[in-house]
Amino acid sequence: MADILYIVVPCYNEEEVLPETSRRLREKLEGLMAAGKIAPESRVLFVNDGSRDRTWEIITQLHQECPLFSGADLSRNRGHQNALLAGLMTAKDRCDMAISMDADLQDDVDAVDAMVEQYYAGCDIVYGVRFSRKKDTFFKRFTAEGFYRLMNTMGAETVFNHADYRLMSKRALEGLAQFKEVNLFLRGIVPMIGYRSGTVEYERGERFAGESKYPLKKMLSFAMEGITSLSVKPIRMITGLGFFVFLVSILMLIYSIVRWAMGETILGWASMICSVWAIGGLILLSLGVIGEYIGKIYLESKERPRFLLREVLEDRDGKAD
Ligand code: UDP
Ligand code: MG
Repeated sequence: MADILYIVVPCYNEEEVLPETSRRLREKLEGLMAAGKIAPESRVLFVNDGSRDRTWEIITQLHQECPLFSGADLSRNRGHQNALLAGLMTAKDRCDMAISMDADLQDDVDAVDAMVEQYYAGCDIVYGVRFSRKKDTFFKRFTAEGFYRLMNTMGAETVFNHADYRLMSKRALEGLAQFKEVNLFLRGIVPMIGYRSGTVEYERGERFAGESKYPLKKMLSFAMEGITSLSVKPIRMITGLGFFVFLVSILMLIYSIVRWAMGETILGWASMICSVWAIGGLILLSLGVIGEYIGKIYLESKERPRFLLREVLEDRDGKAD
């Protein structure tokens, strides 16, 4: 008996791409069903992340026209990571494996076959890894690769060049459900789940229509989020820095005492004021980094819900699959 696959697609203002995306995903599901690789109860689950355009109307319409499409509507816009989590948690009770994918067809739909293949070979998590960024602009490539390097040196271990295109088994999803953090960075959390994992390489295409919802500013804050929610390395680096500055100050002290003993006059004002500014800057920076963590603790301690669902489209015969 083949297993049930759910393809989870977060959508934020994606009315332009949905008709084509749904057509491609439907073809893929039907192909896999015909080949007996997945069960007939498999679905595409679109998650509407509080879109302001006609995205939800399109999803409901797709659901009415074809039983392969299902949908979940978030109470408001919560961002890609939370929307994805909402979709995965909704799919968890209905599927044996779930694949998360962007709505804009940048993730090669044909990599699904290889992922399902690896799932049957015993992998609980299969990461989609892009093998080249030829189609990205130099700027996007440069910033994105810098992003992964920065993440890794700061102690947030992620799979290189893997975004959120991945397959997770029911067991892995149940593992994910036990990570209760509010500051969600799935790319960092999923490797922590463990189990056997595999990778599938694919070529990442261009956005099919519409524009990116991840400009540089969002990417930088995403990196910051990722680092501070996964590792305490920045705080440790501050400790190291503090220790270093302390050593330097002791050397300076010894130097001044020696100069004083030799009867030399006090040195200029410039070097003094520079060090005051330098130390002041370092202190402010350190306070900022520590504040960032305290802010995270504050948010985590509130245990706010990570997403609220307004509606989930069920199959028309009334039973949840
Ligand atoms: N997305 C979302 N909520 C948001 C922003 C984006 O659900 O607040 C979805 C979006 O619809 C798409 C995916 O996240 O399916 C990736 O977004 P995008 O393609 O804009 O990012 P990029 O590929 O440029 O990094
Ligand atoms: Mg995209």
